[in-house]
Formats: sequence, structure tokens, C-alpha cells
Amino acid sequence: MDNTIVRSKFQEHFNTTGDLYFSPGRINLIGEHTDYNGGFVFPGAIDKGILAEIKVNGTNKVRAYSVDIDEYVEFGMNEEDAPEQSWARYIFGVVREIIKRGGQVGGFDTAFAGDVPLGAGLSSSAALESTFAYALTTIFQIDTDKFELAKIGQATEHNYCGVKCGIMDQFASVFGKKGHLIRLDCRSLEHSYFPFDPAAHGYRLVLVNSCVKHELVGSPYNDRRASCERVAKVLGQEFLRGATMAQLDAIKDQISEEDYKRARYVIGEERRVLDVCEALEKDDYETVGARMYETHWGMSLDYEVSCEELDFLATVAKECGVTGSRIMGGGFGGCTINLVKEELYDNFIATATAKFNEKYGHEPKIYPVIISDGSRKL
Ligand code: ADP
Ligand code: MG
Repeated sequence: MDNTIVRSKFQEHFNTTGDLYFSPGRINLIGEHTDYNGGFVFPGAIDKGILAEIKVNGTNKVRAYSVDIDEYVEFGMNEEDAPEQSWARYIFGVVREIIKRGGQVGGFDTAFAGDVPLGAGLSSSAALESTFAYALTTIFQIDTDKFELAKIGQATEHNYCGVKCGIMDQFASVFGKKGHLIRLDCRSLEHSYFPFDPAAHGYRLVLVNSCVKHELVGSPYNDRRASCERVAKVLGQEFLRGATMAQLDAIKDQISEEDYKRARYVIGEERRVLDVCEALEKDDYETVGARMYETHWGMSLDYEVSCEELDFLATVAKECGVTGSRIMGGGFGGCTINLVKEELYDNFIATATAKFNEKYGHEPKIYPVIISDGSRKL
């Protein structure tokens, strides 16, 4: 990300220069609705993120300027000092979570900007939290391992932003590694890196944002969780993780048809993540792509968390010869993630854009991404 705007805004507001810190957004290649089942997710950090210039100011106040929102805020660092602006609460929350863990944070000045699209499923919020968690623990020399940085970000969302998220987004932002995805075991929290470098193998990775978010009646998310918990219980397990299709078939008449389909998706998804990891170790991108489509249609038909627009995008991708395409994120809107052969890329983007526009009256947004490093000082 170009740092000239952040640099000039910091100079304008604070009349000095500070240090630059960056943390990325993330994609998840495969492994959806697996986290609460104790399964795997498979994220990677991207080449888009939040860039912040920061300097200690010798007071007990934070003075923060958001370049993108063009808003300036000052706040103290005690619990009662929480700012109203939602963007500033992410920074305040990180400060508070570090202090709660015994860290001594002093006042600082900051100006920051980002190029992760907000609310598109690429986790601009985790990029923001990780940037400040990494920067403040570095600047104030607070000994914190990477995992704790991710937890500080997650706790910020829980306690200061009203979002009960898992750990994946912050984890990927902090732990990201160029040319690699990270398989995170949501049960043990163990992780391992796998090589993923589409460009080196003649592919590109691109997100297509349907720009729709369906208003949902009831809470499908809680319903899906409840289905999984019921089936796990019948199987005598804490999580669905580790169950096999044979085990599921053996209890088929003790569960509803709906719960059966939900569990079939989750069990399949666990297998698919492992298949993709194995395929990547052999640079077999065709198998990776095939599993992505299977995930899409599993989410659509068995887990029933897709929507018309996302099914349309995955279908158009298939027609264009795209290697892999699927819903990314929880479903009901947002982006598809697509693994596309270099030579088919331009046609796919043009075709998907035109066909989607013709059918839904607006163009999807296109975000090409490159798998990149995690939190860092520049
Ligand atoms: P996402 O899926 O992108 O994480 P969220 O709703 O969780 O979406 O987080 C978006 C929020 O994060 C924004 O409303 C804003 O408060 C904050 N945010 C993210 N990026 C920026 C930015 N570049 N500048 C200011 N605030 C940002
Ligand atoms: Mg978020």
C-alpha cells in the first residue's frame, strides 16, 4: 500500500513523523462453517490491509485520525473513555485489552488508512486490530507472542465492538506468510503452513463480490450450529469433527433429514480441507479447484447457506472454465473466491461482470488478491 497519504496526513495533524505498521486482511480458501465444529479453516493473509503511522506523544491520550473516514478523535485509555466512533473503538479496544493483560501503554498519535474493502468478508476489522496490537506491543516493548496478538484482536471485537467472532481472521492477519496458507485446527489451535502460490503455477486468485447481503429471518447461523450439536451428541462426540460418513449413516434414522444433510456437509468439508492440503503439497491446483466447487454446492444444497446470486456466480465461473469457485464466508451474500487460470482470467471477469449486471442490475466488485505476509513494521 502506498504510504504517501498516511505520511502526509500524519504530518499535517501532528507536525512530526512516526513509524509505519501494516497488517493485512485475509481470504479463506476452504473450510467454511467448520470452526464451531472443532474442524479446520485454511486462511491466508492478502496484499491489502491497514497501514498506520504511529508515534508516542508523551501524554495519556490517544489522538487518532482516520484518513478514509476523514475523522479525528481523541480519547483516554481508561474503561470509561471509550470513543463513540466505531472505527476508533477498534483502537481503543486493542489498547484496553493490552492493558488488561498487564501491558503498560502510553499515549500516542496515529493516522491510518486501508485498502481492504469494508464489510466484504476480507476482514478489514481484523486488519485494523492486528495493526494496532502489533504496533503497540512493539512500541511499548510488551512481550507478547503472536497468538496473544490475535487474541487481543478477537477480544476487542467481543468486548468493544459487539461482534462474537472466532479467532481465524485475527490469526490469519498476524500469522500470514507470503506464498502460504495456514491450516488452523480450531479444536487444538495447532497450525501448519502449506505452500500456495497461484501465480507461480499459472493461476490467479480473485474475489467476486455480489454486493448483496440478504436480510435473514430467524437465525440460520444458530440453527446450523444447533443441528451440528444435535448430531454430535447422538454420535457421542463433543464436536462433529472427526466423524465419518459411515458413522453418520449408522445413526441416520435417529436424526432428522435436515440434520443429516447439515452433518453431511460438515463431514465432507473436513475431508475437503485435508484433500486440498494434500493436493497443494503436490502443486495439484486442479484438485484444489474441484474441492472448492464441491464446497460451494455443499453449502448451497446441504447446508443451505447460499443464495441465488452466489449460485449464479459459481455457475458462471464453471461455464468460463474457472478451476475453482465457491462462496467465501458464512453465506447468504458477500463474495465468491475463484481460482482462475491466467489465460482465462480476463474473459471470466468480463463475462461474470456482464452477466451478473444483466441479471441483477448492478455489477459485482472484483478484488484480485495475492497471498502475503502478516503483521509487520515497515
Ligand atoms: P469486515 O468484514 O471488513 O471485517 P466489519 O464490519 O467487521 O467488516 O469491520 C468494518 C469496520 O472496521 C468498519 O465499520 C470500521 O469501523 C472499521 N474499519 C475497517 N477498515 C477501516 C478503514 N480503512 N478506516 C477506518 N475504519 C475501518
Ligand atoms: Mg470484521
